[in-house]
Amino acid sequence: MKLIVTENIYRFLNSVKPKGNEIERCGLLLGKKEEDYFVDEVYEVRNVKSSTSEFELDAAEALKIFEHAESVSKEVVGVWHTHPFWKAYPSAKDVSGMKIFPGVWVIVSREEIRAFVLEGEIREVEIVIA
Ligand SMILES: [Zn+2]
Repeated sequence: MKLIVTENIYRFLNSVKPKGNEIERCGLLLGKKEEDYFVDEVYEVRNVKSSTSEFELDAAEALKIFEHAESVSKEVVGVWHTHPFWKAYPSAKDVSGMKIFPGVWVIVSREEIRAFVLEGEIREVEIVIA
């Protein structure tokens, strides 16, 4: 299993790398899921927690994106968020979130962009630029 992203998506994920003391940023990844995850649309959603160590998507904004995805026959295949102070690896809270939303989770730290799925255990997914 891989996470295949367009160049624009990868550029976006690079652009949200935290640079300093800032709140976590988060959003949704749209595309399709077959054997691999394919993502060609990305959205940022307000983090209602306004926290440097956790995030929660604004429900109304997220709902609009789910509706948009349906209208263009795409799926919301994943979540992305930043770790301004931690490495790009799921926190305990992220793992709880992965149980609720079992798509691909992209985590962007100051240094790295990594992707994970929860399949009984945390499994890293290779990111490929198409
Ligand atoms: Zn996290």
